[in-house]
Amino acid sequence: MAPQTTTVPDRALAGLREDLGGEVYLPGDPGYDEARTIHNGMIDRRPAVIAQCASQADVSNAILFGRQTGLPIAVRGGGHSVAGTCVIDDALVVDLRRMHGVVADPENMTVRVEGGATMGHLDHACQPFHVAAVGGRVSTTGVGGFTLGGGSGWLERKFGLASDNLLAADLITAEGKHVHTDAEENPELFWALHGGGGNFGVATSLTLRLHELPRMSIAMLFFLPDNGPEIVRTLRDLAAVAPDEVGGGAIYLPAPPEPFVPEDLVGKLLCGTLFTYAGPVEELREMAAPLLALKPVIEIVTDIPYVELQSMLDDPPGLRNYWSAEYLTAFPDEAVELFCERGTRMPMPAAIQQVLFMMGGQVAAGPSQYPQPWRTAPWAVHPFATWEDPALDERARQWVRDVRTDVKPWALEATYLNFTGAEGDQRVVSSFGEENYRRLAAVKAAYDPDNVFRFNHNIVPAAA
Ligand SMILES: Cc1cc2nc3c(=O)[nH]c(=O)nc-3n(C[C@H](O)[C@H](O)[C@H](O)COP(=O)(O)OP(=O)(O)OC[C@H]3O[C@@H](n4cnc5c(N)ncnc54)[C@H](O)[C@@H]3O)c2cc1C
Repeated sequence: MAPQTTTVPDRALAGLREDLGGEVYLPGDPGYDEARTIHNGMIDRRPAVIAQCASQADVSNAILFGRQTGLPIAVRGGGHSVAGTCVIDDALVVDLRRMHGVVADPENMTVRVEGGATMGHLDHACQPFHVAAVGGRVSTTGVGGFTLGGGSGWLERKFGLASDNLLAADLITAEGKHVHTDAEENPELFWALHGGGGNFGVATSLTLRLHELPRMSIAMLFFLPDNGPEIVRTLRDLAAVAPDEVGGGAIYLPAPPEPFVPEDLVGKLLCGTLFTYAGPVEELREMAAPLLALKPVIEIVTDIPYVELQSMLDDPPGLRNYWSAEYLTAFPDEAVELFCERGTRMPMPAAIQQVLFMMGGQVAAGPSQYPQPWRTAPWAVHPFATWEDPALDERARQWVRDVRTDVKPWALEATYLNFTGAEGDQRVVSSFGEENYRRLAAVKAAYDPDNVFRFNHNIVPAAA
């Protein structure tokens, strides 16, 4: 259905333009279409107003404008939520992209990140000091949505989830007010920000813990898919004894047209493994020896600056996206067989990827008080479908659902919501756990009783 065209009173708009240091875009304005475009090419929505904020004051003014005009309010950071919760038809988008400043403080091993910074902004600000924050696995996601949702990446087994490394945050609430939170100040809010996402306010800045990261290396190996189960079992058995410095996983994917892929393999289905190691390549090579012995058709074993690793897997924007995830209590041979069989039946030529992430380490051993029950899982399966042709929409979505069904016997009820789209209210409750959800709903009622921030994995405010 075509979106309605919302009329916003001219006086209110004029006031917003005057108040905002950033930019305001309305339908028809030059720049409006660029401003409403997000990573997932399936999302084609037309907000009533896009307020590109340049400061904390802008965020407050924009929220108050939304409340006064009655426009629903969506919040945009890096624009990477698969369901496109950051851009909504006929809504006000509070767009944080102009607020991407990052100040690293290597003496105190902290970094302060503005609410619209991407992982790339963060990593580039840290790299010169050989320190890193726990990031994800690409450079283009927003630090805000990523961290507040949990934050899972290559370094998590060594340093915990990104949210475990959250030290403080500044938020603008649904009332347009500023609130600071850390372990001492507003501790319930601080607790809720460890997985509860953008439910409680707009984070204009986050302070994160930094870690020394003098060396980083990878073993990226691709195999023909025929002996996929042997490769995945070998990876699984290596992970069971790997030190926390190791991260990574396995993937089935059509070989991309990258310089390191021989021409005759481009577009063919491959089974790959990526081992990341927070240490030197010589040590990594030893650890990866059982995989190297399986004769990969592509073998890249090298030292790599962290910042380079973080952008190595960046997808171009605009592809159609649909994904989900299941967190597994175990990954026995039977699950490996199902995982690999599904991989070989991937609808080609879509660039669909079936990913398996090694968990454990400091994710499982880290703080258990936060609303992230999925973190105890030793493995995560993350079917990640990206494709170009709309004619493939239903096949791609069905394939993602089939992967979920395959691994259901081993799946926790809880999943990491940042890896999912809109999968229903019950999925949100079970991903936090019922007790955590009740506590989150109480925090929501304290900071956003009218559920202004509802375009997200929504936590419904507890009744008064
Ligand atoms: C290509 C790709 C790779 C990814 N890789 C990883 C990965 O390796 N690890 C991982 O954990 N996740 C990963 N994700 C998932 C990602 O973490 C989530 O989609 C996350 O929500 C993206 O945040 P964003 O700010 O980019 O998105 P947006 O769509 O801008 O925001 C999503 C939601 O987050 C909230 N939000 C964003 N910024 C703020 C803020 N400053 N204050 C308050 N609320 C805010 C809003 O509710 C918004 O609706 C990936 C996603 C993509 C598309």
